[in-house]
Amino acid sequence: MKDFEELLRESVRVHGHLCAGQVLGVRMSMVGLAAIGITDPKGKDRKDFIVYVEIDRCATDAIQSVTGCTLGKRSLKFMDYGKMAATFLNIRSGAAFRVLAKEESRHKARQYFPEIEDRYEAQLKAYRIMPEGELFKVSRVSVNMRPEEMPGRPLGRVRCAACGEYVQDRREVEKNGRPLCRPCANGGYFTLKGENDSAASFFSPSVMQIKHNDFGIRSKLWIELEGEPFFGKGKMLLLAAVGRYGSINRAAREVGISYRKAWSYIKAMEKRLGIPLVECRAGGKGGGGAELTPEIRDFLSRYDEIEKDVRKAADERFKELFGP
Ligand SMILES: [Zn+2]
Ligand SMILES: [Zn+2]
Repeated sequence: MKDFEELLRESVRVHGHLCAGQVLGVRMSMVGLAAIGITDPKGKDRKDFIVYVEIDRCATDAIQSVTGCTLGKRSLKFMDYGKMAATFLNIRSGAAFRVLAKEESRHKARQYFPEIEDRYEAQLKAYRIMPEGELFKVSRVSVNMRPEEMPGRPLGRVRCAACGEYVQDRREVEKNGRPLCRPCANGGYFTLKGENDSAASFFSPSVMQIKHNDFGIRSKLWIELEGEPFFGKGKMLLLAAVGRYGSINRAAREVGISYRKAWSYIKAMEKRLGIPLVECRAGGKGGGGAELTPEIRDFLSRYDEIEKDVRKAADERFKELFGP
């Protein structure tokens, strides 16, 4: 294996600049690889190990550079924990070690170079020379890696029953007996801006379409109050997102409308229902937190239940009338 300085030069080239993250990442990799008995990570040992990184920050580039592991080769796994840690797994021996950058090392670094005023500069220098024990906590761990996470041929290719897109490597989720992709099952990081999901039509009842099967029945469901549409999927998604994130701002972004619009929908509903839906904590417009009241949580869970019942009943009747 190359020495520290050479590995650091390489990672700086890949990453684009020298930073404390590069120094830490290179040293983390050296510790982790040594712990699992990997001496030639980019050569003869390249198919023998996998690295789990827990943060998408500078150090991850260094780990990628030293180990040669990548997402595309499936030898690098990104676990979105926001922690400066990585686990090195030898897939032949099963040996695995998690290397965590110690929080104290940030402060200790200063003591190494008290004459350097810039804290970051001191860290950068100190991380190069501090003993491993001061920088890292290394723990023996066991990693439960499922077959579908291994490099090699994809396992399975399943069509999502809701959006029709294909899902590889058993990432589908089964709900009510149907395979769904993760975004359809649990909500994704994106919101479609297509005809049905544009901000303009989002809250109209016509959006409430449940696509039950490839060949199947759809139903629309909304609640009316005094003959006026009052509650449907759009508002349900908005309120559910408020509950999930504790923020109207974030929820509005997720469903693709403005904060003001979300706020006005919520206020209008409160007025018509005569109960508060959201309790706001201090922090000003858009900045503070928001929490659903117990009353609306109860309302949402009942709505969810009736939606499921309608879908189930429609599915069953459809099968009876139209056959398999
Ligand atoms: Zn950096
Ligand atoms: Zn889907």
